[in-house]
Formats: sequence, C-alpha cells, structure tokens
Amino acid sequence: MNNAVPATVAPDPGRPLVIRGGTVLTMDDSHRVLTGGDVVVVDGKIAEIGIGADAPPDAHEIDAAGGIVMPGMIDSHRHMWQTAMRGYGADWTLTQYFVWYYLEHGRRFRPVDIQVGNALSAWEALEAGVTTTVDWSHGLQTPDHARAAVDGLRSAPGRFVLAYGNIQAAPWEWTALAEVQRFLTDLRDVADDRLGVQLAFDVTGDPSFPEKAAFEVARELGLPVTTHAGVWGATNDTGIQQMYDHGFAGEETVYVHAASLSTDSYQRIAATGGSISVSTESEQSAGQGYPPTWQVRRHGIDVSLSNDTSVWWSGDLFSAMRATLGADRAREHLEAHASGETITSSSLRAEHVVHWATRGGARAVRRPDLGSLEPGKTADLIVIKNDHSPVSFPLLNPYGHVAFQAQRADVHTVVVGGDVVKHEHRLVGVDLAALRRAVDATVDHLVSEMGEETWQAGMNPAMPEGEGILDNPYTYTDFKSDATREARGTIFGEPIGTDG
Ligand SMILES: [Zn+2]
Repeated sequence: MNNAVPATVAPDPGRPLVIRGGTVLTMDDSHRVLTGGDVVVVDGKIAEIGIGADAPPDAHEIDAAGGIVMPGMIDSHRHMWQTAMRGYGADWTLTQYFVWYYLEHGRRFRPVDIQVGNALSAWEALEAGVTTTVDWSHGLQTPDHARAAVDGLRSAPGRFVLAYGNIQAAPWEWTALAEVQRFLTDLRDVADDRLGVQLAFDVTGDPSFPEKAAFEVARELGLPVTTHAGVWGATNDTGIQQMYDHGFAGEETVYVHAASLSTDSYQRIAATGGSISVSTESEQSAGQGYPPTWQVRRHGIDVSLSNDTSVWWSGDLFSAMRATLGADRAREHLEAHASGETITSSSLRAEHVVHWATRGGARAVRRPDLGSLEPGKTADLIVIKNDHSPVSFPLLNPYGHVAFQAQRADVHTVVVGGDVVKHEHRLVGVDLAALRRAVDATVDHLVSEMGEETWQAGMNPAMPEGEGILDNPYTYTDFKSDATREARGTIFGEPIGTDG
C-alpha cells in the first residue's frame, strides 16, 4: 500500500545508490529506453546506466523491477505561495482570480503566509516527482516577503528558482527599489544549484512601454525574465513586439501561456530562441486562450509544462501531461470535423509530453545537467512503481504509462542530487503535522481578515445566466413529471438524467 510503513530505511544523504531492473527512460538526445536497466548514482551524479551495471559495495539498492525510472520532472511556472489556498478557486475564471488576488485580497498575505504556501508547495512538488520548480512568486510586496519565500523553498530538499514578482506594484516601480535590487543581487550571488533567481512580471502593451525600465534592471543584474504572455484580455502581441524591438526577447526568456498570440508573435519568439511554458489545465479553465501546443509545434519553439497554481489545479505534472495531450488532440479533431475531415493519426504523442516535462523544463531553467539520465549528469530522478496497484501492469508503452496511467501516488522514489527525498512512497524528513498547523494559521488569518461571508463568497462565484434546457420534440413521456422529478432528485434545478 502507498501508506504502508516503508520496508527499508531511507539511505543517508550522500550514500551511493543503485536503482536496479527498471524500464529506464533516459530522455537523452536519442530517447534511449532500457528494459531491466540499472542506474548508478555516486556523489550526486549519475555514474553509470546499463544492464547489470557495477555499483560501489556500499551502494543502497532500490528495486525498480516492474517500474519506470526517469528524470525528475520540472515545472516551469507555479505560484507556490498560493498553495495555502488549495482548491479554493476551483470554479473561478481568470477575472475572478485577478479580482481576488490583484485587487481585493492579495495584500492580506503576510511574509509568514508566503513562507507557508511555498513550503507546502515545495513538498507537494517533490511528492509528485517534480524535482525542480520555478516559483513564479508575484506576492512579494516587500523584501521581507521575499526572504520568507526563500525560507519556504529552502525548507524542502528540492530545486527551485525564485522568480521575483509583485502584483501590488508596477514592475518599473518595484524593480527600481534599492532594497529589492540588493535582495536580488545577494540572492544571485549566493544562489547555488538548489536555488536560482529570475524576475517575473508582465507586459501590458501600454504604448509607452513602461516595463522597459524593469527589463533594464533585469539586464543590469544579469537575471532572466519570465512573463505571462498571450493572456486573453491582459497581455497581447504588443508586449511581444515591444520586447523584441527593444532587444529584451532572448533565449533565456520564458513566455508563460502564450495562448492568444498572432503568428507574428510566435515568429518573434522562435527567432530569438525563447521558450514557452504551457499550463494546459490553467488555459483550459481560466481562459488565457487555447493551450498553444498546436501553434508552438508549427513554429519550432521549445516547450515546458507547468501547473500555474494550486488555487485550482493539482501541482503534479502527470495532470499537465494528460491535459496537454487531451487539449492538443481535441482541437485537432474538432478542426478536422468542422471541415468534414477525420484525423487518423495524432500529431502529439505521449513521448512528446514526457520530453516537455523533463528536457523541456531543463531547457526553460537553463540547466542542461538536468532533465535526462546520462552519465555525468546531476542525479535528479524518480521511480514510478506501485506493486500494490492493478494499474502498474502490464507496462507495455512506458511513455503512454507515464502520460496517461500514472498518478502521484505511484511515485515510489524521488532522488534530488543523489539524495533520496521520497522513499517507498513516503517523503523523507517532512513534518506534515507542523506544516498543517502553519497552513491552518494562514487560512485562519485570511478568514478573520476577510470575514466568513466574504471568504465563502470568494469560493463560490455566482453562476452565469443559464441558457436553460433546449426545447425537445420528444416530450410525449412523463419523464419530467413532478413525480419522476421527485423520485430522481435534481441537479441545477433540473431532473437528473435529462441532460441536453
Ligand atoms: Zn501564472
């Protein structure tokens, strides 16, 4: 069982590892797959990959038979601080999100609330096999908030990039503050391979391009910029043109969503070597635009995957891979049907989304030592294996298994830099009880500041005016009679079982 007590004790940090007998998805340039393969880890690096590989005598052995060994996944855009409100905005649109966070309540988050959200999110990522996460941290109203964000990230043994942002001020304002620049410089200078730093802000398309000053700060400090681009009603082609025309669109730039842009913008992104972070679950239900993988494919732009925020969605990339395949294929079929055609072969494959969740993420954070299993690379890897689950076999198509069959609970082992941080389905060294108390305190703080009524109203947005149920010529039965209605019950005021 997933919640059974582990059969063995997690190996001490630094001890060599040998992961034996798994289906190894190397995600190297040729996407080599080994059946019954071994991965040897020494000093935090991958020492060897092969069948019957030699391991140091003191290596801790992990039995991966029947399972999949693959690189740790990389989430290129997540507002980790919002994890303290897990699921609160499940029925929101982007407009409701903007009103709640940007206009009405985002200011209520204290430094401790940012820290707690980040800590929860950091452990959640590791639990799901996400070993590197870009924390798109746009709740940093003060440098104290930023220090708290770093504390939250540092409390878990994963890799993170703090993408510093502040939705409570304009980017040209907060990036100009000496205290903020000092914080960024200090963090840049102490940043190790567990914690990187970037700037995170959006370009609204104001013709005077006030964001230019923020880009200049980023350039001066040598920090990459990540930006929400192509977000319906918020950011558009003008912002891309401005970035391009002023030389701020580069290989290091990550465009999040990029969902409602013109061909011209995709061409500018492609020509300058930028990459796109696709948050399919987010684009599908918040409304930034149609998930753009179909566009991106046509322009040869690099893709990574992301989850955006746990205010709505799960922080695991299994969900992202699944949603991305579904959205790409749904659109392809719909377009074809509209012209009377039939798609007989899908353009987007399971292997593509596994690549985006690993190599694509490594490309986005510019860490070529991550994202693949090859000798000499950093040992961030996961084992997907669940001997007690009927879903674990047969294992016929490993990419398909990862993309459509596996879930976070099937993540058996997570290794970051050679250290086991999830061992036999259990996180190592986490104090979930303390984390729960801290998160509860943040929720209590928000509810008491807002009042119970406002809190509840925020979680339950009004329904739109319904279109009602269409007239139906087939109405000669008493299916919808009062007696039937009573017997069946109702949902949304209509008898259950009469959809459409
Ligand atoms: Zn976002």
